[in-house]
Amino acid sequence: MNITIEEVIRQLDDIKARKILLQLPDGLKPHVFDYFSRLSEKFSVIVSSESFYGACDISTMDVYRDVDCIVQLGHSEIPNIEYPKPVIFMEYRIQGEIGIDDDAFQPLKEKGHKKIGLLCSVQYVDQMHHVRGILDRMGFETYIGRQDARMKHPGQVLGCNFSSAHSISAKVDCLVVVSTGRFHAIGAQLASEKEVFILDMNERRLIPIKEETDRFLRRRYAKISRAMNARKICVVADTKIGQYRIRLAETIMEQAESLGMQSVLLTANDVRPSDYENMRCDAVVFTGCPRVSIDDQDKFTMPILTPPEFQQLFKLKDTTKYVMDEIVAVDRLNL
Ligand code: SF4
Repeated sequence: MNITIEEVIRQLDDIKARKILLQLPDGLKPHVFDYFSRLSEKFSVIVSSESFYGACDISTMDVYRDVDCIVQLGHSEIPNIEYPKPVIFMEYRIQGEIGIDDDAFQPLKEKGHKKIGLLCSVQYVDQMHHVRGILDRMGFETYIGRQDARMKHPGQVLGCNFSSAHSISAKVDCLVVVSTGRFHAIGAQLASEKEVFILDMNERRLIPIKEETDRFLRRRYAKISRAMNARKICVVADTKIGQYRIRLAETIMEQAESLGMQSVLLTANDVRPSDYENMRCDAVVFTGCPRVSIDDQDKFTMPILTPPEFQQLFKLKDTTKYVMDEIVAVDRLNL
């Protein structure tokens, strides 16, 4: 169920909130006047105009210091984060009929798959259950992955966490990710030896993701290998509450020093390529959101690596397989 604005108001009343900070993703900003006026009937409301990443990002203390509660729209809670203020998450969930008929799932039959693991991005939790109903009726055996403490819903995947895929990968023939875009399905493919399909909810069809994953890996290895001769490294701990991995950053520092590199440990809340250009470093190892290294690489003049990429490149881990950077838990940020 989506939390409705009435439910948010009820929860705000329960905690006797008076001043609230409202965080909206860019896609919901066109509705800001409606949300603001509805909530302002009972509460003193400030809207954060900043972009934010998700439930891992409630902005900085100077933004939320003066409020009793934060209301974040569009995302689901990350249960194992210790939020310093009450946060009410108003999830955005697509509901209603999925408008996909049985024929769309024929590729699963043609490939002889019988046991199907189901995953989804959070907007499609309800739709994933519809898909399960269709597949069960068609005679498939279906499984929904068990999530770890970083996610709220069974079957859910985040760009930084594929625990739901790990939990069922051994017992299924393939995985189907109900989502849009490709990143979650590519992540699931990298997390599993089994064949992965995306059920693309824009295109309304099932697409195998292996070829695209191979292309992703070729591009990624080309970028990472540019760091091979790096001597000066910036190691960054992002101070967003759900991305803060200072201990991992310290481990990377030790590893860089053991390789004879010169390294500096940095904190950041905004990731600005010019900061690292000014420092004249050869490469950045970024321990915050893994999607920054992957999605934003082209904004940087130097290679920006995830911690497992750094460890693989310099043979600090005994693996030849590409390892996605997954966040299981974060370090406590003393606020
Ligand atoms: S760290 Fe990145 S992928 Fe993970 S929840 Fe935050 S924005 Fe999403």
